Amino acid sequence: MTLTRRGFLAWLNGLLAALLQLPAAVGAELSKIRGQIIGRDDPDYELWRKSMVWYLHKPARHPDKIVRAESRDDVIAAVNHARENGLKIATRATGHNPARGCLREGGLLLDTSQMREVDIDADAGTAWVEPGIRSAEFIELTDPLGLAFPAAHTDIVGLGGYLIGGGLGWNMPVWDIACRSIIAADVVLADGRVVRATTDENADLLWAVRGAGPGFFGAVVRYQLRLFPTPKAIVKSKYLVPVERLPEALEELDGLTATRERQLELLAVVGRFGASGKTPAERDLVCAVSAIAFGDSESHAMKLLEPVRQSPVPAMSVAKREEVPMSWAQLYGGNETDFTSPFRTAIHNIWTNDLVGAMTTLGARWQETPPRSPRSFFLSAWGVNPSQDDADSSFTYTGDHYLSWYLMGDEDDQVEPNHAWMDEAVEMLAPYTRGHYPNEINPGRYPDALRACFSPEKWERLGALRAQYDPDAVFHSWLGFS
Ligand SMILES: Cc1cc2nc3c(=O)[nH]c(=O)nc-3n(C[C@H](O)[C@H](O)[C@H](O)COP(=O)(O)OP(=O)(O)OC[C@H]3O[C@@H](n4cnc5c(N)ncnc54)[C@H](O)[C@@H]3O)c2cc1C
Repeated sequence: MTLTRRGFLAWLNGLLAALLQLPAAVGAELSKIRGQIIGRDDPDYELWRKSMVWYLHKPARHPDKIVRAESRDDVIAAVNHARENGLKIATRATGHNPARGCLREGGLLLDTSQMREVDIDADAGTAWVEPGIRSAEFIELTDPLGLAFPAAHTDIVGLGGYLIGGGLGWNMPVWDIACRSIIAADVVLADGRVVRATTDENADLLWAVRGAGPGFFGAVVRYQLRLFPTPKAIVKSKYLVPVERLPEALEELDGLTATRERQLELLAVVGRFGASGKTPAERDLVCAVSAIAFGDSESHAMKLLEPVRQSPVPAMSVAKREEVPMSWAQLYGGNETDFTSPFRTAIHNIWTNDLVGAMTTLGARWQETPPRSPRSFFLSAWGVNPSQDDADSSFTYTGDHYLSWYLMGDEDDQVEPNHAWMDEAVEMLAPYTRGHYPNEINPGRYPDALRACFSPEKWERLGALRAQYDPDAVFHSWLGFS
């Protein structure tokens, strides 16, 4: 083909126009955003970057842009901008995920923490929630309506990341993992479209939203949740058992779990708790056993607690608070471990069918080679898998009981030793491990653990859905996975 002078000038003009328009088009997408946009040259960039992760220890990963979305339109504009400019997207709600995967090197961090609208349909017993709403805020809004939802035990955790990774909340043996109460989700896909996922419409997307974990291939702008009638009576007993008696106490808890009613929830947390006026280092290592009854009446709740009262556990304890009635909202205030949590540096968990074996092993190591920080602790939830059939969700129950452990680090130089301690513990617990919970692991360090969060079939299906919904990998996958 020969190009005439006129043709050449037209081509040149077109090229110049395209080049001139390019920044304008990019600016046009970004100018639609009502929320904040922070680039790497912003003088406050480092403050913004660090604020994205709730933990005190921040990873050295630097996104090129942070977009703090205020609406679904902001999310659409950010996704379009990122896709058109080759910026890979990492999503964030409230920054509590231990993998700290919302911070990636380069790309665009899409922060949905300011999207906090809640729309409750009390008659239908459902609610639409935006991802930035926090556990306590949601409880506060639903509680006066006589409705409840298994939000995170800790009030500050946002529903955005909590739900997409599963959601271990109260009354789990009855209400199940929270993500299985997601009825619908509005998702902004990589191509900028907003689609609704329900059991009738884009059902495979809903299946993925229910538990894909911190590496989902889209941005959820709203979840629709099924709510539950608030339990009529909640009564809690708590026992502090000295760690020397841990194996005995665990055997008792195992027996109680096997025979108890599902409305009785049993938890055991091992750490240096209790004894106010003392620092964690000065306190003894104890096992705090909590038995929480969700009854139809107070007398029913007391009856649910009877096997615990009659077990040897009360006699083993050095301190106890038995059969305290409390409201649903008060239940959220009773966590002794959480004020130290920003110091968490290494977190891991397993699903197991042998919690006695797993906790005895971990407990022995804890006493022989204690983690550096006395604030570290481990937590178990007994018999929380209410169902053998989890086919409706990507979340997978790989075992009946849950065990997680949290290593604190007051100083940066404790981070690596904690990781090394964790590596050894992970190996020691391998014989008891049936799988993992994706919201409380670091797949960057343990990619095999991420795979083991899902059955092989579900893992494969998630991969196929990612390829279908995000063929050009506009969204980041899990940390450690491309
Ligand atoms: C103090 C504390 C208490 C906790 N208590 C519990 C508990 O009781 N039960 C429990 O199950 N877990 C608990 N967790 C773990 C918690 O559920 C997870 O860490 C969860 O990922 C946190 O959600 P986030 O929105 O704060 O995290 P973020 O780090 O903001 O998000 C985590 C991931 O979720 C995805 N994500 C976030 N927003 C969106 C969105 N809008 N669209 C699509 N994907 C998104 C992203 O992949 C992101 O990397 C707790 C954690 C802490 C620190």
